[in-house]
Amino acid sequence: LSIAAPWIAGLTPYVPGKPVAELERELGIQDSVKLASNENPLGPGSRARAAINRVLAELGRYPDGGGYELRRALGERHGVSPTAITVGNGSNDVLDLVARVFLQPGVESVFSEHAFAVYPIATQSVGATARIAKARDYGHDLDAISDLVTDKTRVVWIANPNNPTGTWLSATALKSFIGALPPTCIVVVDEAYTEYVSEPDFPDATHWIETFPNLIVTRTFSKAHGLAALRIGYGISDPKVADLLNRIRQPFNVNALAQAAAIAAISDREHVRASVELNRAGMKQMTAGFERLGLGYIPSVGNFVCVDLGCPAGPINDALLKRGVIVRPVGNYGLPNHLRISIGTEDENARCLAALEAVLAA
Ligand code: PMP
Repeated sequence: LSIAAPWIAGLTPYVPGKPVAELERELGIQDSVKLASNENPLGPGSRARAAINRVLAELGRYPDGGGYELRRALGERHGVSPTAITVGNGSNDVLDLVARVFLQPGVESVFSEHAFAVYPIATQSVGATARIAKARDYGHDLDAISDLVTDKTRVVWIANPNNPTGTWLSATALKSFIGALPPTCIVVVDEAYTEYVSEPDFPDATHWIETFPNLIVTRTFSKAHGLAALRIGYGISDPKVADLLNRIRQPFNVNALAQAAAIAAISDREHVRASVELNRAGMKQMTAGFERLGLGYIPSVGNFVCVDLGCPAGPINDALLKRGVIVRPVGNYGLPNHLRISIGTEDENARCLAALEAVLAA
């Protein structure tokens, strides 16, 4: 094993929520509640489901390796050329492509404390060095990030809104930050949760790709579109950058079910609207529940919220698991006293709050 690249040995792997099957087998139950991965409790919309069913008849064929129809549909949706699009097996795949194209040993990436866990992994997997800026009020501090940008910086990772904190950056702040970066530095604006945000000065950074040739915006169908299991996301950038990403993209990285479902999902605005609506009501329900229990939380514009337990979250998480409730401890994100809870259906939220109440009272 000593022959492994030295930067791999020190890499901390991504830890997803406990698998439902594992917990249910351990507890001998079949009705666990999983609010651990910021999924859409409604799942796919009816148009995406119909598209998936149609493709089931053609599974013997490879998918379109270049995602022709999907990139066309995405180009139309965002008002950009299909050549600006890079499709990924989830947006994580696009983040990984960015790291493989722009990072290598001897150069650096910069991101904030409490940022998405894939940024350090993507950085370290190619032997580059991660520089981590201090957060401000749990969110990205753009000044602190700027301070860490040097002539060695090749990638800055920004999630807007951020996971796991649910904090967000305004258009004004983000645009001037990007404008001040050196052209030798790529900036990734990860908009995985963008559909959930309704704040007035919240940006759609896809509108800026013609202004900033060093900007890559990533989006996903895993959240508001409810297609997490199919693994489909994409990047939007200057076509020259997309060309580099596409050179190393695995052919057929996005399967046929995912491509067809995503094309159908793009036009299903009603499903996104219903999903966002459900999330808004669920967020109110959750935060009202936390307040009733005397718990603080980080105000979130995403489909998840970090509750502050005021003590180490590990034992409380274990006790919730025993009650069949799977949420996400975020100690690995530098938040040891918080649990991140995804917003579910009204019933799932109520069961989660009831379990939390019982565990805290025990
Ligand atoms: N970015 C952020 C900020 C996320 O929270 C996630 C999902 N947890 C992703 C990207 C990746 O999502 P996917 O690979 O499912 O598109």
